[in-house]
Amino acid sequence: MSDLADLYQQVILDHNKSPRNFGSLDDADSSADGHNPLCGDALTVHIKMDGNKLSNIAFEGSGCAISRASASLMTQATKERSTDEINKLFQAFHSVVTGEADVDDVSLGKLAALAGVAEFPIRVKCATLAWHTLNAALAGETDAVTTE
Ligand code: ZN
Repeated sequence: MSDLADLYQQVILDHNKSPRNFGSLDDADSSADGHNPLCGDALTVHIKMDGNKLSNIAFEGSGCAISRASASLMTQATKERSTDEINKLFQAFHSVVTGEADVDDVSLGKLAALAGVAEFPIRVKCATLAWHTLNAALAGETDAVTTE
C-alpha cells in the first residue's frame, strides 16, 4: 500500500462519487461543523439519537475524495450503534489510519478501505475529520471543529 493509486481504490472512489447518507436530517437532535483547513474539507454531520443509540446520521458539505468517502463509510458504520461502540470504532479506525495498529489486527469492516491513508500522513486529517465532527455532534458542541 505505498502507491497512491492503491489509496484511491474502488470503495473510496465509489463512496466519493455516491456518498451514502448524504444530505440534511429534518429531525436531527444535534449537528456539528468540521473543517480541515489544510485540505479545504468542510463537513456538517447531523445526528438523531434514540437514548444512547445513534438512530440516524447524515452528512453534507464538500471536500476531497478521502474526506467524503470517510464520512460516507462512517455513516454506514455508526448508524444503529451505541455511543460506546462508536467510540471504540473510532479508536480502532484512528489507530489504523495513523499507523499505530495494523489493519489486519483490528475489526474495521468496510472502514478498512481507508487503511492506506496511513502511508500518507497529510491525508489522516481528511480521513478523521468526519469522526471528529461526529464526536462534536454527540457531545453537543456548537463550535466548529477544526483539525488545526
Ligand atoms: Zn481532504
